[in-house]
Amino acid sequence: MTECPACRRALEPADSVCSRCGAEVESLQKIDRAARDLLLRGSGLLRQRRSAEACAVFMRSYALRRSEKVAKGAAIALLCSGRFKEALRLRQKIS
Ligand SMILES: [Zn+2]
Repeated sequence: MTECPACRRALEPADSVCSRCGAEVESLQKIDRAARDLLLRGSGLLRQRRSAEACAVFMRSYALRRSEKVAKGAAIALLCSGRFKEALRLRQKIS
C-alpha cells in the first residue's frame, strides 16, 4: 500500500491525485525517489570519506525533501568537512 507523499493518506494503486489533499501523487513520488537516491549517494560518499561532495549531495536531497535523516547526514558531512558553524546552524534548524 502506498501513501500520499504530502499528507500520508493511504492511496489506491490507480490514484493519480490524492483525494484528501489534491496532491499530484506521481510527481511527488518522483521527487521522493530523487531525494532518496541522493541520500543514498551522499551516504556512500561519506563512507568513502568524500565529505565535501557528500555535503553538496545531502543539501540537494534536503532541498527536495526536508527529512530528518538527510539533515543528520548533512550535519555529519559538514562536521567532517570542518564546517562547524554550518553544522551547528543545521542542528538548530532540525531540533
Ligand atoms: Zn494527500
